Order: sequence, then structure tokens, then C-alpha cells
Amino acid sequence: MATAVKRKTIYEELREQGVTRREFLKIATAITMALGLKLKMVPTVVHAMETRPRLPVIWMDFQSCSGPTESFIRSYQPSMQKVLFDMISLEYNGALMAGSGTAAEEHILKIMNEYPGEYILAAEGSLPLLPGALTIAGRPAEETFREVAAKAKAVVAMGSCATWGGIPAAKPNPTLARAVTDFVPPGVPFIRIPGCPPIGEVMTNTLAHIVIFGTLPEVDELARPKAYYRHRLHDKCQRRPFFDAGLYAETFNDEGARQGYCLYKLGCRGPTTYNACAELRWNGGLSWPIQSGHPCIGCAAPNFWDEAPFYARVVQLPGAQTTINPERVGAVMAGALAAGIAVHAAATVIAKGRIAKKPDVKALKDIEIGQ
Ligand code: SF4
Repeated sequence: MATAVKRKTIYEELREQGVTRREFLKIATAITMALGLKLKMVPTVVHAMETRPRLPVIWMDFQSCSGPTESFIRSYQPSMQKVLFDMISLEYNGALMAGSGTAAEEHILKIMNEYPGEYILAAEGSLPLLPGALTIAGRPAEETFREVAAKAKAVVAMGSCATWGGIPAAKPNPTLARAVTDFVPPGVPFIRIPGCPPIGEVMTNTLAHIVIFGTLPEVDELARPKAYYRHRLHDKCQRRPFFDAGLYAETFNDEGARQGYCLYKLGCRGPTTYNACAELRWNGGLSWPIQSGHPCIGCAAPNFWDEAPFYARVVQLPGAQTTINPERVGAVMAGALAAGIAVHAAATVIAKGRIAKKPDVKALKDIEIGQ
């Protein structure tokens, strides 16, 4: 039976590259900040880097568009370079590595044999049960996945296809695709990082957490890291004040859309989607879909593709989680005064197609709350 090989610590590797102690402490502090940890955690990060080797990662790509890999390499905080060169050792990634063919497949075996129970298997894409639908080096992908997962420290499912089945598993699911998490051998821990694709920082931070603390981060009941999936987009959305005031874009090209009003009526699924898009945003915090004028399509939620159409109002707002009923306000805005709703002041929000600058919030609040 193979035994684990003693490896150099992260600190030792950095010293060999000519990094001074002072520079090392700066790197550790920068990583602490990038992970959103408090300054008092710097000694913990320093200790981890002094005592732990870089984390070997085998990143396998199954039925996927490589979106998670594309997003991963665009992580800003911490940057992919920092994670890649200072914290992990990316041993295999079909989209990024130069090697291919037999040499690449043999390298997976080498890592499995040299670091049993130490490497992370990051998996993106779904796995098909249809015979012959996906093979790697002539073998069914599912078989290879089970084999590599069995010796892993943990499996990190990257993206909605790996976590829920995603687009390949959407109806009619011609390849009988399933989430990779359905194939994780018993006893091997796993974590789900859903999103189409997931946010780069969520992936790099999760790997960095494993390096520093030696364990997976705390997860919710769906095995997602709590730190990034605990909030509904709707509760962190910058358009929420418009939602609460009953101001909605009715089309992508109306005055409401230009004013940045709530996108609920254009099919926004923010009220039922849990992700960190509103907090971390994308491209180094530059923007995110709703900020850019596009409704959330709920890409981090299970079965999001089968719940299309995307631009129709399909989300049912949980009554206890909203302060106003947009359906009722919508009726008001459409001029349905005859319905007998006490909407006199609400109608001032939009009168004869004209959007008022200041909605009568009191009147809107008078409208029945919830259903
Ligand atoms: S419905 Fe969508 S756009 Fe409107 S506040 Fe909620 S998340 Fe934001």
C-alpha cells in the first residue's frame, strides 16, 4: 500500500523561491484579508502556511461548459495566482494543463497513490448514466470519478451541473445526467458550490479555507458553504427599496428599467435564490446581473433550467418574507381600480404611463400585505 510522501510546507517552498520572512508575513496577511478573516487570524494563517504543504487538487471536468474553471481563473480576492502558487497545487485540470493523453491520465494515478486522503477532487459538470455518453481514456467517466473520489480528502462540486445536474440533466435529460455528488463514495465528505458558473472568489476561498483550517467550511442543509449561501439575493439587492415601494420595470426598455426599478415583473428569481452575487459581485466587485439590468435566473438553485421561461413571473413570493404584494400593486399600476382595492394613492406611482418621482409609500403600505 502506498504511503503519503513528506512534502515541503508552503513556507518552505516560498523561502526556496527567495521570499524573505518579512515578505512571507505580508503574503499571509494579504491572504487573511482576502479571505475576509479578522486581523487576529493572521497568526493562524501564518501557522497553517508554516506547517501545511500546498493542497494537491485534481480538477475533473465532466458534462460541463468549463464555466467553473473560467470563473475560477478570474477570482480577484484572493486571486487565482495567489491560491494557485501559494496555497494549492493544481495537479490536473483538462482546460488549463498543457499535458494530455496517457501522460495526463497517469499523473492522476500518481497523485492518488502519493497523496491518498490528502488531495481534493474538484469536479465540474454532471455525470451521465447513459452507456458511452462520456468516457475518459476509454473508461466511463462515472467509474473514473468514483475511483478518484474514493481516495480524496474531500470532493468539492463546482457549479450547478456538478451540484444538482444542471443543464445536462434538464428535461429531457438525453444522457441520464446526474450530479456528481450522487456518486461520491460513502464516508468521503463533499461540499456543493452551485452557480452557473459559481463566483470565482467562492471557489478560491473554499479551497483556501481547506488549506488553512484543514477542514471543509461550515455548510448548510444542502451542503453549501454557509458563508456564501445564507442570504437570499432579494434581501441584499440594491433594487430592494424599489420593490418595497412598488416600483417595477415592466419591460426591458421602459422608464422603470432606465430608473433601475425592481425586476420582479421581468421574471427575477432573487426572492427564492441563495447566493453571494449581491455581496461579492463579479469581476472584482464591478457588477452583477441585477445591477446590470438583468433579472436573476436563479442559476444557483436546483432545477433552475427546468423552471424556465426565465422572463416570466414564476416566482411565488413567500408571504412572510415580503412587505408588499407586487401582484396587487401591478393590478393598481395597470389601472385596475375597479377591483375595489384601496389604491388611490398607489395609482400616483404611475399615472397614464408616467412614472412619478416620489411614490406615495404610505398608500402602498395600506395595500394588503402578503397574499
Ligand atoms: S425581485 Fe429581484 S430585482 Fe427586485 S429586489 Fe428582489 S432580487 Fe432585486
